[in-house]
Amino acid sequence: MRQILTLLFLFSLSRPAYGATFVGNGGSFLDPELSATLHQLEEILSQISGKEDLSKCYVRECEVLESLSWDELDFADAFFISRKDKILKKLQQRELTFVWTRDDIKLHGVNHRSFSAVAHKNRITLNEKIFARLNRAQRLTLVLHEIHHTIPYKGSILRDDMAIGPFKSKEGARRLLDIQGPLLIAAASKSKYWQRNRVESSNPVSKVMLSFRTGNVFLNETEMNRIFLDEVLLRQLGIEFFPWSNSNWGYSLGYKEFVGDSSGPFKSDIKGTQIDLGLSHRSRITSLFTKQSSSESIISSGYWDRILLKWNVSIGSGSMKHRISDNFNRIEGKSDYYSLGSKAEIIIPAIKGFWFGAGLGAQYQDYLIDETNFSSKSLYKDVFFTVGYGAN
Ligand SMILES: [Zn+2]
Repeated sequence: MRQILTLLFLFSLSRPAYGATFVGNGGSFLDPELSATLHQLEEILSQISGKEDLSKCYVRECEVLESLSWDELDFADAFFISRKDKILKKLQQRELTFVWTRDDIKLHGVNHRSFSAVAHKNRITLNEKIFARLNRAQRLTLVLHEIHHTIPYKGSILRDDMAIGPFKSKEGARRLLDIQGPLLIAAASKSKYWQRNRVESSNPVSKVMLSFRTGNVFLNETEMNRIFLDEVLLRQLGIEFFPWSNSNWGYSLGYKEFVGDSSGPFKSDIKGTQIDLGLSHRSRITSLFTKQSSSESIISSGYWDRILLKWNVSIGSGSMKHRISDNFNRIEGKSDYYSLGSKAEIIIPAIKGFWFGAGLGAQYQDYLIDETNFSSKSLYKDVFFTVGYGAN
C-alpha cells in the first residue's frame, strides 16, 4: 500500500512544472475563459459606432456609471470612443500576449498591495486565481483596463497614479480606466448583446469539487448467482482538490459504499465500505476538438466550453461484509481488501456552482469471505450519475 501511495505521489510530481501559458495555445485550463472574454470584447467594440450615448446603462453591471459626475462621464465617454478602434485593432491583429501568473503581482513603488493584472508593453500578466473568480463583467473590465495601458495617451504611457481630465485624484487614471468596462457594458446593454450572451451556467473553473455519485455495479453474473444477489448499488461521496484554478490535475478522496441484497429463498446481503485516494484529470470537451497550437482559433464563449471530461485513477482500501440467512440459519463474514479503480465522467454545468455528471467506472479487487465462500478477484464495471458542487 505504501509503495503504491509513494508511486502515486511521485507520478503527481513528475508532470511538467508550471510555465507561462498564452492565449490560444490551449495549454491552460483557464485559456478558454480568457479567449471568451477577448472574443466578447472584440465583438462589442466592433458593434459600437461611436454615435451612441454610452452613459445609458440598462443592466446592473454598468450601474456604477451613475456615480460619476457629468464632467467625468463626458470625459470617460470621449476617451472610450477615441481609443476603441486602437483596441480593436490590437485584438484583431493579435498584438497582445497574455501570460498567467500564480504569484501576487506587486508593482514597483507600490507597497502592501497586490494587483490582479499588470501590463508591460504588449504583454499583459493576469493573476489566474483572481481572474478565475471574476464574473464576465469584471473580466472584461480588467482586461480592457490593462489594454489601455498598452496604448499611449498623448505620447506617453498611461499610468494609474496620474490625474487625467476631471479625474483629478492621485489615482485618477486608474478610476478612468476602471470606468471603461462599464461604458463598454452600457453600450452592449443598449444593443441587447449583453443580455443575449449571458451564460448563467456554473463555471467549471473551481479548485474544490464536491460530488455525490450513485449507480449500479455489474459484478460477474456467476458470482452474483452463486451468492444469491440480485443487484449491487454504489454510493460515493467525493472531494477533488485542484491545487490551482488553472490546473488540469487534481487529487481525489472518496468514500464509497456498496450495498446489495436478494429477494430469493435465501436472504443474501453485502455491505462494503471503501476509501479511495486518487488523481483526477479534467479537460474541456471543446479542447479535444480544437487545434491546440493555433493561436488564431478563438474558442467561442458559451455553454459548450463549460462541459468537462474528467477521469480518475484511484487506489482504495475497503472491507466487504456478506451475510446469507434463511429462517433457521445465518452465516456471515468479512474480508478486507485493496482495490485499483478508474472512472471517466462527463460534467454538465447546472447553475450556481452545481453540476451534473454521468460516467463509467471499473475496479479490480481481491477478497475472500471464507464463511460464505464469497470471493471476488475480478474486474467489475459500474455506471453512475453524479451531482456535484464546485467552489473556488
Ligand atoms: Zn492600471
